[in-house]
Amino acid sequence: MFTIKAHNISKRYSYRLFSNISCSVSTGESVAIVGPNGSGKSTLLKILGNIVSPDSGRVEYFDKMESIPAHTVIHYAGIVAPYIQCYNHLTLTENIIFAFGSVTDDAIELLHRLDMYQHKDKVLHTYSTGMQQRCKIAMALLKKPKVLLLDEPGSNLDDSGRKILFELIKEIQPFTAIIMATNDSREAKLCHRSIVLDKGIGA
Ligand code: ADP
Ligand code: MG
Repeated sequence: MFTIKAHNISKRYSYRLFSNISCSVSTGESVAIVGPNGSGKSTLLKILGNIVSPDSGRVEYFDKMESIPAHTVIHYAGIVAPYIQCYNHLTLTENIIFAFGSVTDDAIELLHRLDMYQHKDKVLHTYSTGMQQRCKIAMALLKKPKVLLLDEPGSNLDDSGRKILFELIKEIQPFTAIIMATNDSREAKLCHRSIVLDKGIGA
């Protein structure tokens, strides 16, 4: 069981994004962060993933009910986000070997499901943006993450890519704590709960 627990998180940049947000997400639970552009969805996701610090409040992490240091969370996390990149000068096979040591049968199966197997030996910068998004999804899931941080995960995917993504999310949901920042109501509906941010509140 992995748990992320946020207490009274607040953040502002040029305006106040949100104040006093508290939430808890454990293995088997999923939370969508929704709200208009600029409302702070990505920022809240980054704070929950210990990528950005809150101005006030704190985030705690527990693995098997034991508190773990925030800086170790990256070891447990799979991240699909515009600001997370694979190695674009390597092939997908090389990315997988670099990250995980070998291309396992599980990896081959996942690449087939994502319709990327036939492209696995091409250099990533030659891929379309949708194919690059499929790579990010593959790399995040191959990590077998305890927590999955998804920022607009359906970006650039076609209908079939989105369908595969949704199926994969549903499959890993029972074993994973999922936090998803999204503008897409179909993505948000995959999650058990929502945190709604409203730009300008308290600004
Ligand atoms: P959303 O994901 O809901 O569209 P973001 O969390 O990306 O919103 O951004 C919310 C606001 O915070 C935006 O106005 C954005 O420009 C600002 N912002 C985000 N990150 C930074 C940063 N590192 N420095 C300054 N402003 C930022
Ligand atoms: Mg965003």
